[in-house]
Amino acid sequence: MSPPNSPLSDQDILLLWDHAFEADPDERDKRYLTVAYPYPSGAMHVGHGRTYIAPDVIARFLRMRGKNVLYPMAFHVTGAPVIGISKRIARGDTKAIALYRDLYRVPPDVLARFTDPLAIVRHFSDEYQRVMRGCGISIDWRRRFTTVDPPYSKFIEWQWKHLREAGHVTKGAHPVRYCPQCENPVGDHDLLEGEKAEILRFTLVLFRWQDAFIPTATLRPETVFGVTNLWVNPGVTYVRALVDGVPWIVSQEAARKLALQDHVVEIEAEVPGTSLVDEVVSHPLCGEVPVLPARFVDPDMASGIVMSVPAHAPFDFRALRDLQEEGRYTGISPVSLITVPGYGAFPAQEAVEKAGITSQDDPRMEEATLEVYSAEFAKGRLLEKFGGAPVREARDSVAALMTERFGSVPMYEFDTRIIVCRCGGPVFVKILHDQWFLTYSDPAWKAQVTSHLGEMDLVPPEVRTEFERTVGWLKDWACTRRVGLGTRLPWDPDWLIEPLSDSTIYMAYYTLAHHLREFPAELLVPDVFEYLFLGKDSPDLPKRAKLEEMRREFLYWYPYDFRFSAKDLISNHLTFQLFHHVAIFPRDCLPKGMVVFGMGLLNGAKMSSSKGNVFLLEDAVREFGADTVRMFLVGSAEPWQDFDWRNDLVASTRRQIERFSSLVRESLHAGDEPGAMDRWLESRFQGHIDRATLALERFQTRQAVQEAFSSIEADLKWYRRRLPPGSTGGTSLRDLCSAWVLLLAPFIPFTAERLWRELGGEGLVSFAAWPDPAEERVDAALEISEELLSRTVEDIESILKIIKLAPTRITLFTAPGWKRAIFSAVASAENKNTVMKEIMREEEMRKRGKEATDAVRQCTTLIHRLPPAVASSLLQEMPDETALFREASGFLSREFGVPVAVEDAESGTHPRASSALPFKPAIVIE
Ligand SMILES: [Zn+2]
Repeated sequence: MSPPNSPLSDQDILLLWDHAFEADPDERDKRYLTVAYPYPSGAMHVGHGRTYIAPDVIARFLRMRGKNVLYPMAFHVTGAPVIGISKRIARGDTKAIALYRDLYRVPPDVLARFTDPLAIVRHFSDEYQRVMRGCGISIDWRRRFTTVDPPYSKFIEWQWKHLREAGHVTKGAHPVRYCPQCENPVGDHDLLEGEKAEILRFTLVLFRWQDAFIPTATLRPETVFGVTNLWVNPGVTYVRALVDGVPWIVSQEAARKLALQDHVVEIEAEVPGTSLVDEVVSHPLCGEVPVLPARFVDPDMASGIVMSVPAHAPFDFRALRDLQEEGRYTGISPVSLITVPGYGAFPAQEAVEKAGITSQDDPRMEEATLEVYSAEFAKGRLLEKFGGAPVREARDSVAALMTERFGSVPMYEFDTRIIVCRCGGPVFVKILHDQWFLTYSDPAWKAQVTSHLGEMDLVPPEVRTEFERTVGWLKDWACTRRVGLGTRLPWDPDWLIEPLSDSTIYMAYYTLAHHLREFPAELLVPDVFEYLFLGKDSPDLPKRAKLEEMRREFLYWYPYDFRFSAKDLISNHLTFQLFHHVAIFPRDCLPKGMVVFGMGLLNGAKMSSSKGNVFLLEDAVREFGADTVRMFLVGSAEPWQDFDWRNDLVASTRRQIERFSSLVRESLHAGDEPGAMDRWLESRFQGHIDRATLALERFQTRQAVQEAFSSIEADLKWYRRRLPPGSTGGTSLRDLCSAWVLLLAPFIPFTAERLWRELGGEGLVSFAAWPDPAEERVDAALEISEELLSRTVEDIESILKIIKLAPTRITLFTAPGWKRAIFSAVASAENKNTVMKEIMREEEMRKRGKEATDAVRQCTTLIHRLPPAVASSLLQEMPDETALFREASGFLSREFGVPVAVEDAESGTHPRASSALPFKPAIVIE
């Protein structure tokens, strides 16, 4: 501990907090907050920091509001990522070693052990806990676990038994993202690049060429009727390969892909692209067509050769045009086959010409393609001679016909070009057999989720549509893997449950994690969890009394109140966990709310560990201090907005905290009898408490920092300015500053804990009562008078700045009674358009003529510019301006160093006097 009488150090405070945030059930109202747990495979950066600090601010706020708050943390270590990392380190991959040695600063002896994947997760989970504690995150660490702990695996086995019995797990063959190097399907967490990639299902249309077939991949099989030619890339070397015994001409990349998609592929010979150009091919649905050269054909996209429908595909139209502009293939004309409202016979030509595209290399080609594609899919119809069906029906029926009669098969391909596994290798689509799937496509299951979603509190409200959309499009999810860390599927132990599938209801596990750790894993049979989580009793339960106590604890904490996570998890984890909750838990244990965060930027660019664009959280804490990091992360943007870490802005946050500390310490020396300014300060303070509380109740951390720090600091600045010379401030300042420390305690708990001790506060500030606004201390009239005075001071300052003359005398002219009457009439008028007529109906005003109509206009403008709170306050009570300024004339003279006179504008002789308005006196500087 620090020597007596010296301020507490952060280390002292961490010791005081050591077990302070361990939460057990009691008679208080509970709040259970949870954050998506981290995957500890690298050091935490400031972006991660906000994910845990923002909920911590809320947890600390709720604790001070008298709630029993549970905020637990665990570590997600399931899956292949750490295995990939350990493999890369084992084989001496310089990029991986540089990342861990230089960026994450893993000591050499520890790094040497990283060839064991568990050594990686052990190292980083300890480091995460250490850094989170250092940031003052108030976690109940007794509940920490990892997803490979034996009791957790038992819990997952129970969950999966349950899911299977409810029919939510099926077996089948499905296309999945797959890394041949790792021999494993890969999820988002396993990717270095291409997380958003979707798998598309193409139809291969087989054109005959000599004794072989040329498959072309299309998402629009119905357009086969309009094919005028094929496209090959003359710069590419294709191969002739036996695919399931039939000779095909495809790109080399395609041959490799087809082998992963249930085909037996044997390469026989190379076929230069040039040798295909000008050959003739045929298909029963379009007859004979030539093969033409085109640069846009990508050998790494599906089969590497495409069919050309220039009437309806902008790329095909433009590539044909490019050739024809060189005088080649001028005999080929587009063949129209679809009618669509808003377009003529050749929509592709219209889209290209409307956009002014003059080459197939124009980047806007994608946009034109999407435009035609969407229009034709939504409203297009095939011409009568091709059957007349709507496009959306013809697409499936033509594909079925070609599959049945003309040898077509599906081919799967990503919608994104570059997808890289964490091991560094490329990712492919593979058809997996005997794969287990969670049936997220099940409409009944979706309906349950949608219905519960409607009852949840989602913050910010805009994310609701994104959740609804995700529930709508989710397809069956490949939930098992061959390789990795994790829990084995209980009924098919060759498979492991993959990471996104074993982390869906662990929020329930947290409620009992510290108890479950004490059970030998073999006692944790499914019946135990049936009892603990669902209350289903069965004979022969072990440790009956202990289980009953645990059941009560679960029911006390569950459901969780809010789950926090970054927005990139909406499309998977955050939605998955709802599916699992509705499948397993009764209604009264379903999640109550979610808060979705924005992303972190570093100097304006997206933070990314793999690209090295990160600032480590620990470095930030060392350089700026934990409180500065916290206040910046939650105060510079609302949680759902993106924040941008810039060292200069962070440094200014540090100075704010330093100013706060000095102001609070100065309050200890305040010794004067409290006066009007102390009453004003207290009155204002009640409003700040009220608004900071409201903001935190809505998770608006930035707004709360504005109220709890900036606004109060500004008030104190004015207060100090208004004190008579030599005054140290009223003795009530000390209580006010105590309350200020309370307001900032959730944001800057170290500083607050330190100051609380110095002010003689009882116990830890972390558990002190959050201040309540006291209505009896609010003095609206006093606040409005000071508002007028400070506005007038600002006006004088800006005039002085403009005239750049040393003044000798300042005169304030206050508005006469009749203008005050106009001001009130305008301020209270419901209809600002008719207020002029209303006022001018009065005889006295009519007599004043233009002077009165001008005053109405000026008052309207003035009221319009006032903050609504000030305007409505003025409606209640107009200050006696002459009395106010006379009383403050001493202060004003001191401020400006010249005599200040106050006169009624009506009796004033100066020409400017007539411009005086209520709440805006005329100012004359001589
Ligand atoms: Zn891999």
